[in-house]
Amino acid sequence: MTEEAKKMSCEEFQAQLADLIGSGVDVSNHPHLKSCPTCRALLADLETIAEAARQLLPIEEQPKEDLWDRIESAIREEEEEGPDATK
Ligand SMILES: [Zn+2]
Repeated sequence: MTEEAKKMSCEEFQAQLADLIGSGVDVSNHPHLKSCPTCRALLADLETIAEAARQLLPIEEQPKEDLWDRIESAIREEEEEGPDATK
């Protein structure tokens, strides 16, 4: 784990999350997740949402940008509702 990764804030990590997942990277190995239970929980939620979205709509009828708009909206709702969000 690098110092730089440890210092990454949740905000920075979450800003990159959609791009990381979209690029096919195995996000579960990201150093930030190893030190941040909040983002691990968030990623688990996102995977559930993404999986549900894939099952509800065939991928060819679900533009990636639109899917991520929805997921990012879900992240924002999570942040607003989360009582123990890391600051
Ligand atoms: Zn975090």
